[in-house]
Amino acid sequence: MSVNLEQIEIICPFCKKGKCRAIKQEETIRPFKGPWGGKPAMRRTPERIEILSCCDKCGKTKEEIQKALRHGVNSKEKDKKMLERLKSQGIDFSNVETKF
Ligand SMILES: [Zn+2]
Repeated sequence: MSVNLEQIEIICPFCKKGKCRAIKQEETIRPFKGPWGGKPAMRRTPERIEILSCCDKCGKTKEEIQKALRHGVNSKEKDKKMLERLKSQGIDFSNVETKF
């Protein structure tokens, strides 16, 4: 079983200047045979990004950067509600935060 791992550099989501090393694991879909035998099922592993170093400019830790990538830098309830309101008006900003 081989997994595609790729060394990448991402721009820090906090200061947008620093760079952090990260490893990207590509989405994989492979057959998976359960202990019960029979037809193999397909198991999907979603794309994953693992931060390896903290930001060299603002000093945010890899944990903070990882969290920001997953949930956005501003994960406050207020922002979420505003986004939902915009969405109900036909404007979708849900992808904006996750881009870097
Ligand atoms: Zn930074």
